[in-house]
Parts: sequence; C-alpha cells; structure tokens
Amino acid sequence: MSETYNVAVVGSGPAGFYTAEALLQSDLNVRVDMIERLPVPFGLVRHGVAPDHQKLKAVTALFETIANHENFSFFGNVHLGRDVEISALQAAYDAVVIATGAISDRTLGVEGEKLEGSVSASAFVAWYNGHPDFRDSVFDLSHPNAVIVGNGNVALDVCRILSKTVDELKRSDICEHALDALADSKVRNIYLVGRRGPTQAKFTTKELREFADLADAEPTVDPNDLELNEPSKAELESPEGAGPAKNLEIFRKFAPLRGGLGKSKQIHFRFLLSPLRVLGHSHVEHVQFEKVRLTGAAFKQAAEPTGEEVSIPAGLLLRSVGYRGIAIPGVPFDERLGTIRNRDGRVQDADGRAVPGLYAAGWIKRGPSGVIGTNRACGVDSALAVLADLPSISNPSVAERKARRDRFVHLIQKRRLRLVDFSGWRRIDALERAGGAARGKPREKMTSVQSMLDAAEQEIPLLSVAI
Ligand code: NAP
Repeated sequence: MSETYNVAVVGSGPAGFYTAEALLQSDLNVRVDMIERLPVPFGLVRHGVAPDHQKLKAVTALFETIANHENFSFFGNVHLGRDVEISALQAAYDAVVIATGAISDRTLGVEGEKLEGSVSASAFVAWYNGHPDFRDSVFDLSHPNAVIVGNGNVALDVCRILSKTVDELKRSDICEHALDALADSKVRNIYLVGRRGPTQAKFTTKELREFADLADAEPTVDPNDLELNEPSKAELESPEGAGPAKNLEIFRKFAPLRGGLGKSKQIHFRFLLSPLRVLGHSHVEHVQFEKVRLTGAAFKQAAEPTGEEVSIPAGLLLRSVGYRGIAIPGVPFDERLGTIRNRDGRVQDADGRAVPGLYAAGWIKRGPSGVIGTNRACGVDSALAVLADLPSISNPSVAERKARRDRFVHLIQKRRLRLVDFSGWRRIDALERAGGAARGKPREKMTSVQSMLDAAEQEIPLLSVAI
C-alpha cells in the first residue's frame, strides 16, 4: 500500500457506517476516523428504529464488523460544531464526510402548533428510544384522544407504540421510563390523519399489516375514504402502485372491524384532512382540519381545500410530517431543503463550486427518505467521490498526514473531551445487554451521557486511541 489517506466520517448511523465500509474496502489505503457526538454509535438504528422492530436493528452486527477493521477508529462524544469546528477537521484530514442525518423535524406551519401537548413525532421516538437529549421529556398521555398528523412510517411507529399493551412492549428494548409512562396512558382513541388519500400514504405494507395483530387496539377506516378517484385508480395500475394497492387491501380488511372486537383502544385512520390550526388555551384541546379533495394527474395529485372543517378533540398532537437536517457552522447548507448543499455527495459553496475535501452522505445529503438499506448505495456513492478525488486533492507526506491527525487528537485532549473509542462502546453495550437480560429484554439502554461515559470507563488515555 503506497499511501495512507485519513478520512473523517462524521456521524455513526447507517450512512456513516456504509460510507466507512466502502472507503475501507477500496484499493487506496484509507484510514477512517468516525466522529460521533454521543458516546454510543448507530444513530437512528439505536434512537430511531422502533423498539418492537428488533430485526431491523440486526444491521448493527455488520456495523460492528466494519468497526473491527484495523484502519477504523471511533471517536465518540465529540460534537462537530460545538466541541470542534469543521475547520479543525478539514485541517486534520484529507477528506471529511458529513453523515449527521436529519435530526430536526419539519413543521406544519399552522396556528397553535407550539401549544403545550403539540410535539414532533421525532421527539416522541427519541424519548421512548432513550436518546439523552429527550430522556426527560414529558408527553401528555392523560387525555383519551391523541392525534398523529402524517402518513409515513414514523407515524405508524408512534401510533403502534401508543397502541400496544405493556405486555406487547416489555420484551422490546423500549426504555423503562417510557414503558412506565405508557403503562399509565389514558389514550384510547388515536387518530392517524393523512392530508391525501389511503393510496398516497407512504406507509410500507409490512408496517401497516402489523396493525391487524395488535392485542388490544382495533384499526378502523371509514369505507368512504377507500373510494378512489380515477387518477388514484390509475396510480394503482402502474408498477409503483403495487405497494399502495396492497395497503388498500389491508385498509379494506380494517374497515369492517369498526367497533366490533371490543378492544380498549381504537386507531382511526383518517384521510383527506389537511391541518388547519391547533386550538387550546395553553394546551392542545382540538386539532382542526380542512377536508380536501385530490386534484391533478396520477402521482401528482395535490390536496385542494373544500372549505369544510373537521375538529378532533385531543390532548396530544404528534406531528409526523418528516425529519429535517440542521446546519453545521461553516458547512454550506440549503435551508429550503434542510440538507447540506452538495452535488452527488461533493459539498458545494453558494456559487456551486465544490469545496475540496468536503462530502456529505445519507439524509443530510439527500433528505430524509428511504429505509436503512437505502443509505448503503448513498454512502457508497459518496465514498466513490472521495476515492476519486483523494489522489488529486491531497499531497502531504505520510508523516505530515499522521502529524495532522495527531494534532486533532491533541486538540480534543486540550478541550478536555472524554473520548469514547469502540472498546468503550463495547463496555457500554455489555452493561446494557446485562441490564436488559435481567428484565427479559435485548438491552436496557443508558439514557444519560454521564452514565455512558462512566460505563465506558471514562478517562480513556487519549493518546492510546489508535493512531
Ligand atoms: P415520510 O415518509 O416522508 O412521510 C411524511 C408524511 O407527512 C407524508 O404522509 C406527507 O404527506 C405528510 N406531510 C408532510 N407535510 C405535511 C403537512 N404540512 N400536513 C400534513 N401532512 C404532511 O416521513 P417519515 O414518516 O418521517 O419517514 C422518514 C423516512 O424514514 C421514510 O423514508 C420512512 O419510510 C423511513 N422509515 C422507515 C421505517 C421502517 O422501515 N420501518 C420506520 C420509520 C421510518 P404528503 O405525501 O401529502 O406530502
């Protein structure tokens, strides 16, 4: 191997790991340092994937294998933009790939959205999954009605978690604080509301099908909502219509169930309702919608207001209308799209010029769409851009490269950051698994940064981090 290029990948979710994998598998001799703001890796696989979907988390076994590569190091507990600036990374590495995901959320843009009790679904997800930033959040589960706005898989996730019994959840890796709160939940009616029709919903069929098997919650649909207009029928005839057609079959099976099974919770799938305003004194009391009709050609159907209003009384509104990336100081950002300004992964300045050595991968590159595996192709593409550019954008000697990287590690040391390397994560992991085993769960997550750092046996001798 002639050269050792040093590449920093920021973010340890699927996009970060898939990018790292492609870089490490290349013919160029590349060292990858993964920078992660939390002491623990795996991003949305840990803090986003629903706790009752353990199979989806099996992908971490692959990420562990990638982390075992001799040219891979994990720098946990280093927050880009807060602890270190992008310029420090650019000075230390031949290339920097930002894979920080989309950690904020889109807003509805309606009056009353900020009332107490109106929260983003992403915050609710992060809370039950034990993200340290959300562990102390409180969600009002005291009212019999909850409304979820949005028709994507996140809406299904939060709806399912609100609907399941403690028995259905207790063997998952849901955090104890959330399980306790859900055990006391008074929510009985969950309204899952889409602004377009059942065949425009972005639900995947596998996820929707699960609603038929809930122990004590009954999914219902108004059969009138399942009557399709001509463009929707045309959508179902096309190859892209296969998933929506299967969803429609499932909805048709839900419909006759209405009120018939005597279950204590009801899930009301409602369609063609666009959020208008949220009403309440200081707290959510009603969510008001305007009935819409679909207009336009197949696959381009928009929601046109009809003037008719519908009001749903509720104490909790979960807004599930998509994630959004947030800007990192010093990195060109497209505010409209909520992504880093880039072309095929190469970061671009406001004039469209490539910023040498700076790349993006995953949701912060292309927006919050697709499933975990979608990030593999995305990460590979970004890695290929890095690999194509490395020989031309970088020419320091191997010794100089090592010195630059050492300076970065010293910088972290000077700032008194407590680094967690991958063996530190393994200690956290082992303790979490042991805590879970005692409760019949896959793991009991640590939810505070402090407990994670302590478990990683903090004060890791910084200079012993593989260099
Ligand atoms: P999403 O799939 O993009 O769905 C967003 C939903 O919000 C759409 O139904 C959209 O309706 C609606 N919406 C947007 N703006 C709205 C507004 N102003 N008023 C009312 N509704 C509005 O987003 P997501 O559910 O957050 O999921 C993000 C990604 O993660 C997706 O790719 C999803 O498949 C993936 N994910 C996968 C899983 C899994 O595989 N199990 C689990 C969770 C998430 P329109 O269509 O009308 O715009």
